Amino acid sequence: MKKLLRIDLSNKQYRYEDVPPLYANLGGRGLTSKVVSEEVPPTADALGMENKLVFAPGILAATPAPNNSRLSVGGKSPLTGTIKEANSGGAAAQKLARLGIQGIVVEGASSALTMVKVTKDGVSFIPAEGFKGMGNYDLIDKLKAEHGDSISIISIGPGGEKLLKAATVSVTSPDFKIRMASRGGLGAVMGSKKLKAVIVDDTGAAGIEVSDAAKLKEAAADLTKGILTHPLMEGLKVLGTPLLVMMINGAGALPTKNYSMGQFEGAEKISGEFMMESQAKRPNSQATHRCMAGCVISCSNVYTDENGKEIVSGLEYETLGLVGSNCMISNLDDVAYINRLCNDLGLDTMEVGAAIAVAMEGGILPWGDGKEAYALIEEAGKGTDRGVMIGNGCVATGQKLGVKRIPQVKGQSLAAYDPRVLKGTGVTYATSPMGADHTAGNALPSPANPTYNPTASTGQAPVSAFLQWYFAAIDSLGICLFASLPLLDMPDLMKHLIACATAVTGQAPDENYLMNLGISVLKSEKKFNEEAGFTTKDDRLPEFFTKEQLPPSGLVFDVSEEEVDTALKF
Ligand code: SF4
Repeated sequence: MKKLLRIDLSNKQYRYEDVPPLYANLGGRGLTSKVVSEEVPPTADALGMENKLVFAPGILAATPAPNNSRLSVGGKSPLTGTIKEANSGGAAAQKLARLGIQGIVVEGASSALTMVKVTKDGVSFIPAEGFKGMGNYDLIDKLKAEHGDSISIISIGPGGEKLLKAATVSVTSPDFKIRMASRGGLGAVMGSKKLKAVIVDDTGAAGIEVSDAAKLKEAAADLTKGILTHPLMEGLKVLGTPLLVMMINGAGALPTKNYSMGQFEGAEKISGEFMMESQAKRPNSQATHRCMAGCVISCSNVYTDENGKEIVSGLEYETLGLVGSNCMISNLDDVAYINRLCNDLGLDTMEVGAAIAVAMEGGILPWGDGKEAYALIEEAGKGTDRGVMIGNGCVATGQKLGVKRIPQVKGQSLAAYDPRVLKGTGVTYATSPMGADHTAGNALPSPANPTYNPTASTGQAPVSAFLQWYFAAIDSLGICLFASLPLLDMPDLMKHLIACATAVTGQAPDENYLMNLGISVLKSEKKFNEEAGFTTKDDRLPEFFTKEQLPPSGLVFDVSEEEVDTALKF
């Protein structure tokens, strides 16, 4: 029987609870959002004692289902003031699932920096004052040396310790690369609880329990086979997410110069194609890499310098778009070093990239200067005023510098897709309970759906609504987004995914399973936000997206407010 693990940091106590009926058959985002909406007062201080930090493997964690083990991290966000879930690849979710843990609810706060170690024998509290101010890379090396190879580490860097609103929660992959639950400043919530790291060791764990193992195995095999026939998989396996740079640039939606242009003249130099060619000449680089066991796509990479020393793994599209084109930085090594610095400090490359571009518009550093950008982000780790400004994200930066064009919704920066061209994504940015978040429902054109026009000014809300409930369900199952995309074009595969989930939970298969799950997640998130004081007036893109024509297309975001407001009316 799965258990809920509650850790009280104020008293250094823990207990395993039977899963209450309210949380039964939930996982991932579904569980984190349910716990937060039930147990955290919506008006609580996100960095105060009343907020809780929830870690939850998805429903399919550690099963034979493909790409099955994202770890959801949830709480009230210090960046947006909304409910927040951010998820990450890595090994922690599988280990927690094998330990029989449905989720960890972290409550209270320690008086001194601490770590917790979770094993089959329970939880131990480990003093961590000696690790104060330590970056994620050194921390991971030290913990691995001390606790062995069978652990996964969930940790924060100096960004989280300093309560910066762009702080991330890092999760190690099976080979101890850094993956991130990046968005919404949940690293600062972890820092506010003085929790430096959670070490998960599944040595000797009993393993997962499922309702019907044979059915699960069969459905997982059918699902994997189907996913791998989708044409997108070939591209992802070769170029990874950086393949999107030239695609989105070609569509005129690549954020450039703080979202003032949709195409970047240096796009080729930060593209997946360029990366593959230049990295092929460097020792130890890897064009493909898996962030979790059971991944059948391997979209990630290992990016190295000329001597074969790893700079970062992986260098992904969102970083290339927000740190690269949006800041007009076309030197790929500069982007990679900034990514490494953000990983070490525990900061969101997307929020930081957006903040740097706003700072460039504010005139405190030149456009395209990767070295200056690096130096400014470094200041975040030192806690200077300018560094704290960047580490608190694009709204803090715009407000401090008097910049009016701030690309955000509910305080969170947009992703690397301009909403004037991708208007369904724009509706998602506007209405997602998470603030501007592409993973909540990114409406990209697809050859498999030629009738969808992403630039049309009507018909976008239903597209966004469908994607938002679909991805809320996917985030609850713990499946990686890339493994879920083929199902949008090949709906026949949905039955295999539903069969996987119901074979785990024992629920009766129901063709509406994903929709019911996704809508129920969105409803609890919306309820929390409404009780926190958010209204439809907060579901708006910044005015400049509706007024400024985006070169070269000349498009504006012109989906009516009336239509936007229908998106999440379930
Ligand atoms: S496809 Fe990419 S993000 Fe998804 S599990 Fe594999 S490596 Fe991780």
